[in-house]
Amino acid sequence: MDQRMPDRFAAKAFTYERGGFREGYVIAEGGVIVEEDEGPCPERTDIQLALFPDVVNAHTHCADYGLKVPAGMSLEELVAPPDGLKHRYLRDTPGEVLSENIRRFGEASASHGSSAFVDFRENGAEGCRLLREVCPDAVILGRPVSPEFDPGEIEEILRYADGIGISSVSDMPSGYIEDVADMVRDRRALFAIHVSERVREDMDLVLSLDPTFVVHMCEAEDSDILKCAEAEVPIVVCPGSNMYFGKVPPISRIVDMGADMALGTDNGMLREPDMIAESSLFIDIMDRQEGDSASVFDTFFTLSRKILNRNIGLGRAIQRRYMAVPFEGEPLPENIFRPGSSGMSLTKRIGSERRWSSRTYLCPLTEASTPRPPSRRLSSLRRPWEERSPPSTSWIRP
Ligand SMILES: [Zn+2]
Repeated sequence: MDQRMPDRFAAKAFTYERGGFREGYVIAEGGVIVEEDEGPCPERTDIQLALFPDVVNAHTHCADYGLKVPAGMSLEELVAPPDGLKHRYLRDTPGEVLSENIRRFGEASASHGSSAFVDFRENGAEGCRLLREVCPDAVILGRPVSPEFDPGEIEEILRYADGIGISSVSDMPSGYIEDVADMVRDRRALFAIHVSERVREDMDLVLSLDPTFVVHMCEAEDSDILKCAEAEVPIVVCPGSNMYFGKVPPISRIVDMGADMALGTDNGMLREPDMIAESSLFIDIMDRQEGDSASVFDTFFTLSRKILNRNIGLGRAIQRRYMAVPFEGEPLPENIFRPGSSGMSLTKRIGSERRWSSRTYLCPLTEASTPRPPSRRLSSLRRPWEERSPPSTSWIRP
């Protein structure tokens, strides 16, 4: 709960659902919603809130939350395995300190209103065990540390993790990664990988691994993005982390190419796990790339709707929280995600799930936020808003 908010308040509320906002009100006490309904509020409202239910931060590294990063380090010096500063920190720091980093990260993520975060956890099985112990609801993608493929190690990681998150195809022998991906697929777990963050990487090789999603794509060519769209592999973008290293994710082109996109805050040492602050950067980049800033709304739900709910029952972590943002004016991206704005958590009261009536006013997004017609160059492509068949791989947690 934001310190600036009074303990009890009534707010006019715009609750986001697919394609628009429902207008109503909430009354909250101590960060918990005690009343929520459509229509005008029976009390005088103090503020106006945009409410986003069940937001998933699609990419984090929580354990480096305590690392102070010296200015001016390159991406390679800081995060390249095995000897980048971050990896030396994670290797040399006692488990109790990492646990404390993770605990503080989990608290910060929740206080900013995210329902869940999807973490690329380093330090092998032990790293995953630590995170599962401290944040039982985290979606964990563990990373093997053995110099060669070791099925026993992957088995051990998957005791605690929901899948495997690999640094990149440039950081490990491709045979090793293929063996890991095969085993993860057999186990029906998740497999994800950083791609083309610093240099362009071989998209055919990446997609041959059948990833659940890919992360970054800053240096990707249009053809790489198109291949993700065709393979229905979502792209997670992390604008704040990328911009720290002078990179810019190609978010407008991702929308144009019809690929699904999700948003993540990446390394805890660089960014707070605050999806609203990340969204401010997202719409700033989208404006500069002359794209549709309202595409930010769907990025909050891409992984939960399209994959995680089907795979691992993300429901264990979700459906308890709104990400709430005070704003003024119409519920437009530029009004909600202003520079310096920050998300806060409003917890839904157990058993208080609102069933909106069909009469509820659904506030449409502006014309600018409705899907643009396909450009001529891309007219043959399937668009993301068109009907989509379920993915061919059905992931069911064993
Ligand atoms: Zn990452």
